[in-house]
Amino acid sequence: MTQSLTGTVALVTGASSGIGEASALALAEEGAAVALVARRRDRLEALAERIGSAGGRPLVIEADVTDPEQATGAVETTVAELGRLDTLVNNAGVMLLGPIVGAPIEEWQRMVHLNLLGLLYCTHAALPHLLSSAEGGPREVADVVNVSSVAGRVKRVGNGVYSATKFGVGAFSESLRQEVATRHVRVTIIEPGATATELAFQNRPEILEDMAKNFAGIALMTAGDIANSIRYAVTQPRHVAVNEILIRPTEQER
Ligand code: NDP
Repeated sequence: MTQSLTGTVALVTGASSGIGEASALALAEEGAAVALVARRRDRLEALAERIGSAGGRPLVIEADVTDPEQATGAVETTVAELGRLDTLVNNAGVMLLGPIVGAPIEEWQRMVHLNLLGLLYCTHAALPHLLSSAEGGPREVADVVNVSSVAGRVKRVGNGVYSATKFGVGAFSESLRQEVATRHVRVTIIEPGATATELAFQNRPEILEDMAKNFAGIALMTAGDIANSIRYAVTQPRHVAVNEILIRPTEQER
């Protein structure tokens, strides 16, 4: 049995495209007011327009979550403008693949800064608000949803550092889950396989070519498929916590 998010407030990082955009729409459909966080303001404003015209309550927050002050500012602005925070979706991420030997160090820094540190900064800032919502909110439960990856469960040649960041997300999420479980803050790890978004296009051309070969002929998932799994997790009744969702395209073997 599902529960609506009416009266609650969600914050989604990386809401300007792909899985974050689709998740923000899904949470708004469930009745949540949604803070839309990313760097591309024009994309956030277009999404806010869509949510607003469907009767929702969006808030655009332009922020780079790799900067601790901006990450904290995004959470504080959400609470100041929308009154509370019940659901944090840590979705913003970057995936730069390729061999470890000779890899550009700058790519590793980008992944660690965003996939790990950005997620940690947002979570740190959000937790006091989530704990207080879980005590006295409309649903008496709050949610942290961390978007990891199949690469957070499976190690492969060619994705060493991306995988390291996503395994890190898994370890942090489980530790946090155990810490706050009795206080009714649920922690969910979402582990998508190949999903058609802009994510791959930041890779070097030769890497992109390899990726296209690996996934040739496979029907990829859509951002909406992943958003539905997030919707499923956060609309469960208070006594049910969906800890982990591993979701692949049917034909993806590994
Ligand atoms: P997209 O590239 O479409 O989305 C990434 C989002 O992150 C964008 O909205 C981008 O917005 C935002 N972002 C990037 N840098 C920052 C920053 N410094 N501060 C704030 N926001 C930032 O990719 P996806 O939707 O596919 O990716 C979402 C998540 O899903 C990622 O964590 C990814 O690892 C994970 N994932 C995706 C899979 C796939 O196949 N697509 C598979 C497994 C996991 P902007 O540039 O405007 O800041």
